[in-house]
Amino acid sequence: LTAYLNGRFAPLGDLSVPVLDRGFLFGDGVYEMIPVYSRKPFRLDPHLERLAASLAAIRIANPHTQAEWRRIIETLVRHQPFDDQSIYLQVTRGVAYPRNHAFPAEATPTVFLLADPLRTPLPAQVVSGIAAVTQADVRWLRCDIKAISLLANVLARQGAVDAGVAETVLLRDGLLIEGSASNIFVVRDGMLLAPPPSHLMLTGITYDLVLELAARHGMPHQVREITEAELRSADEIWLTSSSKEVLAIVTLDGTPVGNGAPGPIYKAMYQHYQAFKTEVMRT
Ligand code: PLP
Repeated sequence: LTAYLNGRFAPLGDLSVPVLDRGFLFGDGVYEMIPVYSRKPFRLDPHLERLAASLAAIRIANPHTQAEWRRIIETLVRHQPFDDQSIYLQVTRGVAYPRNHAFPAEATPTVFLLADPLRTPLPAQVVSGIAAVTQADVRWLRCDIKAISLLANVLARQGAVDAGVAETVLLRDGLLIEGSASNIFVVRDGMLLAPPPSHLMLTGITYDLVLELAARHGMPHQVREITEAELRSADEIWLTSSSKEVLAIVTLDGTPVGNGAPGPIYKAMYQHYQAFKTEVMRT
């Protein structure tokens, strides 16, 4: 029972959604990806709060209370044969006919969850870092909504694959925004810099945690706009996401970042992040 659809837990292969679902026809829905370590959902409350915010932003009534969501996720987690999981959660506006862009008068949201084994970065990626390329950010102006309509993100990530690298860093109007599926941090002269949350980026749960850890451990940090020039001359660049955790970007558009290896501030944050995970798993 790896999946859940509209009240029913079942093997993924037994579940299907009607072709008239507005998720299929319009990309009309939102999602979350929640990591689970040792069967404990990590930072579940912020994920559920962000889900509620995404739903409100696209005017879908939240189909479940936080307690109900927690129960569904806990049941799904319990059914898996593996301890570390990634829970994909998606809500669409539901099935409606005839096809019409405007909201249907009546539709029941389609709720889908899927549990997969969590794929955190390979040890080699943590030790050696990863390569990335940059691209112009051509997405819409509400990237703060975790929408399932991800065409521009898909094309950006494929740009990375085509270039033989791990991630695409998006730039808009000369400023660093985020990655195709990650947030981006920069270190300059010992100062950790993070782009300010806005409608143009998704504020990651991991982004918030990294800033929290920086504060907790007295690491100098600043949330402010980062120019392309500052990005390209950074001492360190990191990406963060729920599945990638914190990874050092050591090559950007073929040019080494700093000395081309994960830097000292990255290594410190990586340790803090892993220690925090261990702390949470114990409680
Ligand atoms: N930005 C984008 C566009 C993303 O798709 C993601 C995650 O998939 C993130 C940032 C990182 O968010 P989180 O740390 O909540 O996983």
